[in-house]
Amino acid sequence: MEILKNPNEAHPFDYYIQDFEVYKLDYDFFYRNSFGLQEYKTPYNLTFYHLSCYLNHLELAFDIQTRTSPVLVELTPETNTLKLTCRCEKVKTKLCEHQAQALYLIKEFKNYRIYFDAYYRKKEMEVAAKEYGLENEPNLDDYFEIPFSIREQTIEVKLKKKGLIPINRSAFDRFKTIFSPTLNFKQTEENLLTTSEFIVLSYNSYQDSLNIQVHKAQLSKEGKLKNPITPLDADARLLDAETMKEVKFHAAIKQMSSYRVSRDVLQRKEIKAIKEIICNPLKLPIYRHNRKKSDNITSSSIEQI
Ligand SMILES: [Zn+2]
Repeated sequence: MEILKNPNEAHPFDYYIQDFEVYKLDYDFFYRNSFGLQEYKTPYNLTFYHLSCYLNHLELAFDIQTRTSPVLVELTPETNTLKLTCRCEKVKTKLCEHQAQALYLIKEFKNYRIYFDAYYRKKEMEVAAKEYGLENEPNLDDYFEIPFSIREQTIEVKLKKKGLIPINRSAFDRFKTIFSPTLNFKQTEENLLTTSEFIVLSYNSYQDSLNIQVHKAQLSKEGKLKNPITPLDADARLLDAETMKEVKFHAAIKQMSSYRVSRDVLQRKEIKAIKEIICNPLKLPIYRHNRKKSDNITSSSIEQI
């Protein structure tokens, strides 16, 4: 760290420290560069008026007189230049006691230090950054901030950019809840009472083919299927799957609904698919399509088996 090169440049109010690093603030530094060292040897006995503190900025006062002309500490991060301003009478060939005390506060108290020590701040923010997958971002100050707390032990990292989504387990669960209504992850209880999902086996003797699909229909008050009966999209239902059995089931349904296979040439993969469907992990009712009644699947052309 470098102080004023030429004493003639001494300013009545301002004092600059170039290449400022908090960890370099040792006893020797204060001894060489300040007046009135004795007064701030016991930092925990400091009496001061806190005015404001945020990133690279601290403003405080030490007595009633200077409260109206406070000590201002500002760090320019691009050049790492620390500017300390005090309007007391001491010409600033060295730090006046007020400036020195403010600086000592930054060195000794974590809740002040964090705004002037980029390395320390980064370490504190990294824990939160990990939650958002941002631990490798070079400038975490762009994403997070630390509201000032007068209590030294309370350093809380908060999100600056709203809308970032953490990538941990609890966030995933919350995410699922938010999107459930639109993706229909789980049916609501009301839906369960008034709609039914079921498997329909449809054998076409003319084409000698078997078609298996999951359908959905509203239920009447008596619990009977109502028209229209609509086929469910097996791809969409794969998203609903919560177990491997269900995944296999929907994949099998997909296979058996998009390929009309001849019973005579059932291949290994079709047999496997039918086995998965027979497992019926969702315990869906099974209906048989009676083509004599209608080529279409309606409430009167299917019967439960
Ligand atoms: Zn002063």
